[in-house]
Amino acid sequence: MTLKIDRRKTPRTTSTGHSEHPCMAEGCTTWGSRGYTVDDAGKRQQLWFCPDHAKQYEADVEAAKRTPPPPRPPKQGRLV
Ligand SMILES: [Zn+2]
Repeated sequence: MTLKIDRRKTPRTTSTGHSEHPCMAEGCTTWGSRGYTVDDAGKRQQLWFCPDHAKQYEADVEAAKRTPPPPRPPKQGRLV
């Protein structure tokens, strides 16, 4: 199962200067204790997950790494 990230749940700073970051998995209301910095289209973004969803997130990242890149288009012309 792929983890659904709710990007609206971004960290916010409270009036006391404390940073609040809930787990960003969709529908999860647990505190996000594990932070990950990701590169999202050239923009640095911090993701937070509870331990359970952090595990799932890491599994997803590993699965994405194992997916082979799309095949290159064949070269034009041919060697004779
Ligand atoms: Zn969670």
